[in-house]
Amino acid sequence: MDKYDVLRQYFGYDSFREGQETLIDAILSGRDVLGVMPTGAGKSLIYQVPAMVMDGLTLVISPLISLMKDQVAALNAEGIPAAYVTSAQTPEEMNTALASAAEGSVKLLYVSPERLENTRFLALAGQVPIALVAVDEAHCISQWGQDFRPSYRKIDRFISSLPRRPVLAAFTATATDRVMEDILNSLGLSDPAVTCTGFDRSNLYFEVRRERDKEAFIKSYISAHPGISGIIYCATRRSCDLLYASLERGGFSVTRYHAGLSAEERQENQEDFIFSRKDVMVATNAFGMGIDKSDVRFVIHHSLPLSMENYYQEAGRAGRDGLEADCILLFSPGDVHTDRFLIESRTVEPSLTPEEMREAAAGDERRLAMMTRYARTTGCLRSFIRGYFGENAPATCGHCGNCCRDTVEIDRTSEAVTVVRCVLALRERYGAGVIAGVLTGAKRQKLTAMGAEHLSHYGALAPMKESEVKSLIDQLILEDILEETPGRYTCLKCGPHAEELLGGTCPVMARIEVLKPEPVVGRAAERRRRIAESDVLDTVEMALFEKLRALRKELASLEKVPPYIIFADKTLVDMCRKKPKTEAELLEVYGVGKNKLARYGKDFLAVIRKEGQGE
Ligand code: ADP
Ligand code: MG
Repeated sequence: MDKYDVLRQYFGYDSFREGQETLIDAILSGRDVLGVMPTGAGKSLIYQVPAMVMDGLTLVISPLISLMKDQVAALNAEGIPAAYVTSAQTPEEMNTALASAAEGSVKLLYVSPERLENTRFLALAGQVPIALVAVDEAHCISQWGQDFRPSYRKIDRFISSLPRRPVLAAFTATATDRVMEDILNSLGLSDPAVTCTGFDRSNLYFEVRRERDKEAFIKSYISAHPGISGIIYCATRRSCDLLYASLERGGFSVTRYHAGLSAEERQENQEDFIFSRKDVMVATNAFGMGIDKSDVRFVIHHSLPLSMENYYQEAGRAGRDGLEADCILLFSPGDVHTDRFLIESRTVEPSLTPEEMREAAAGDERRLAMMTRYARTTGCLRSFIRGYFGENAPATCGHCGNCCRDTVEIDRTSEAVTVVRCVLALRERYGAGVIAGVLTGAKRQKLTAMGAEHLSHYGALAPMKESEVKSLIDQLILEDILEETPGRYTCLKCGPHAEELLGGTCPVMARIEVLKPEPVVGRAAERRRRIAESDVLDTVEMALFEKLRALRKELASLEKVPPYIIFADKTLVDMCRKKPKTEAELLEVYGVGKNKLARYGKDFLAVIRKEGQGE
């Protein structure tokens, strides 16, 4: 069987995606590989296809039990013999898995890194010819990454202990140079073929929204997208609990996850979400590592994540199946203070010297400042993200929240000068709130108390709204004309470009929104279709889609697997388009391989046929 047979017959896909084939070919020719590709790019297939082509066993080292279970279930559903060995198994379960690996009836064996030191496991490894060792989530090997796992450092020793050195393949979505170097060195990859695909995820729609009432926004968003899986990230356990309780009271299908819950509750809630028994997961950043649920349609951040890396990783859990998904960051300037507080109250690492502590704190501040820039930019969000990860991206993508906004550019230079003069007149001792209040002539107790009415700048920008002045200030910060002092009580002061502005050599152009964006609820119908497919399904097809979804859910609960293991959303959408009548036609549908055809073909064909007659 060659690689194309495996791709078509088992996975039901027609072609390889960017980067897959080169690495598969390298593995098949006996060369080590390193694949650095974003979440959802399809890294697993790169070792799963060779595993079926090569003689011998493929060992997959994976950091999380939930991840292993999920992948093994998915492989078994495709008819690929796979099993896993974890510390959570009984000795009997482990023996069964090892025995089937030993006799060759399992082609892929998933193991947690800790098991590599287990004597019984080592005994097996010595007997069975191992063709390939795939290290998934390979960044866990690096102390510089946030998911460091010490036992990943022992993989190297395990490999050298084998009678014959297998091909080694490592995969990660984390691409900083430091982490990549660590992977190459610590794993001992020899002359590997390295592929780094771009970091863009074209199916993700990014948006930053300034919402006064975040909870109201979230409720209207979920109401507009019923029955759809999504994650809402909160900064703290407390805000997670509060939002969860409020949504629960509102009758929404929600669950929650954070480190303050018992292990059982976390496990149960996670499964409710993965098995689509609950639609929405409200969680802290403790949730998500190893969540392979492919049909997450939205990730909303209730507040600012601590870094761009965190943001892209968390938001990236949306749309792994390649269908459209929303990544929405809700931002209010006060969030920056919450985050600073979180950073400041972090536990002190006893192993660090005061010098290292200061360095770490400065790093935290830098990361947060970058995240704040993202939240405030009026430019293309996708281009911002790609630029941050070191890619050259076009200045506009045409389909992020900022690119979609209807804006005109207007000259704000003279207003900007007034803002800076006011900051200077107040001796750089006040924050954006006070400055905007003074300039618009607001009447507030705090302003009265400081005698604002008597200042020469009081009301100097009076026709403008306070919110407009604030967004102008945001822009001046982005352009390094103003700066915010670090710390809890931030003050505005002049930045490196302030002088140029005052000297008249630095015009300030602002993008002003022409139309108010429609309320999200109004876009529901259109969004709902976008969710089904980027090219819109018509109403009849949409009705069929819902029927197929219902069938999938029924089969999933019978077999006790998550619905997306049976068929991905994308497969259902393709069925609605192609409306196959025969088994041969069904086999042409995206993601339908021989095994799934045999298992589910009749049921799905029956629904499609019945719906077709109803027309
Ligand atoms: P990663 O590990 O890179 O985050 P996965 O391996 O989990 O991504 O794959 C994401 C999704 O893409 C899975 O649903 C997988 O079946 C699908 N996929 C992978 N390769 C292909 C392909 N060549 N054609 C179509 N779908 C694919
Ligand atoms: Mg993966």
